[in-house]
Amino acid sequence: MADLVAHGLVTSKDAESLDAVAARYAVAVTPTMLGLIDRADPQDPIRAQFVPTMRELQQSPEESADPIDDAAFSPLPGLVHRYADRVLLKVVSVCPVYCRFCFRREMVGPGGEALVGENLDQALAYIRARPEIFEVILTGGDPFMLSPRRARELTQAIAAIEHVKIVRWHTRVPVVAPERVSDDFVQALCAKGVTTWVAVHANHPREFTPAAQAAITRMREVGISLVSQSVLLRGVNDRLDVLQDLMRGFVALGVKPYYLHHPDLAPGTGHFRLPIAEGQELMRGLRRTLTGLAQPTYVLDVPGGAFKAPLDPSYLQVSEGGLQLLDGTGHWHDYKG
Ligand code: SF4
Repeated sequence: MADLVAHGLVTSKDAESLDAVAARYAVAVTPTMLGLIDRADPQDPIRAQFVPTMRELQQSPEESADPIDDAAFSPLPGLVHRYADRVLLKVVSVCPVYCRFCFRREMVGPGGEALVGENLDQALAYIRARPEIFEVILTGGDPFMLSPRRARELTQAIAAIEHVKIVRWHTRVPVVAPERVSDDFVQALCAKGVTTWVAVHANHPREFTPAAQAAITRMREVGISLVSQSVLLRGVNDRLDVLQDLMRGFVALGVKPYYLHHPDLAPGTGHFRLPIAEGQELMRGLRRTLTGLAQPTYVLDVPGGAFKAPLDPSYLQVSEGGLQLLDGTGHWHDYKG
């Protein structure tokens, strides 16, 4: 908290109360993100994502420490197997930043366990024994916190499993700590026998700094396929113009917009959630104004972890004569095919 005071993001008076938040949830902001925060704007969207507030201590009854119930689908430490053809490996517990809306906020942070040694061997053996597993998703924490050596070892160990064809890394590092995405690290993500995908997490167009753009370009240059992940957040990107610039920013960098997540029911995050109907209205706005390439799917991980539900608004309704389809200006058109 002293660092946030020193950087003018928290007053010394507030720091005393915020120690209670920091005692429960990890706090970290990278120099790149610090450099983006407008100190004169208390509503700054970058600040809102990383600087703790007392609202995080307000927990509602529907919120849960494990909102998508990873634990119920975790047969081994660090491995989540929810869908038959893919597994998640939580390879590290640390991140370069700690997002105040993080759905794994009760698990991530310094001092958590990394997937190494016997636990990693067991996880790889689990994947090896199940030919239906087509894709391995590396998450955490942020798996781009691995050293290039460990990233290479992990990629090669997964690539050596014949039936695994896709390795997908989920990361916020290219945006919040782009200096970590070195040429050596990028090479470490690739191995013969698997196709590497990287899902880049960004929530506001200002996050596409020149350094972030260069980090993403380095991944594209070695042939890595890139998709986006964003969280729809009150006070960060809950405006059509911001979402338009965010999705256009991804597409311009060769990152296909993939998921726009409705925030999960993580503890103390109610101030970030907006009504789903409002999210759908924003999605209609994107559909009306952006190229098809820039359209994400609006999704909700259903509490309990059963599945990821698409929340996209409907453009089709059944009518007496057949079907009706909604255009971008809000008018319905009959279809009799
Ligand atoms: S980078 Fe991802 S895992 Fe880490 S705190 Fe942010 S949302 Fe959570």
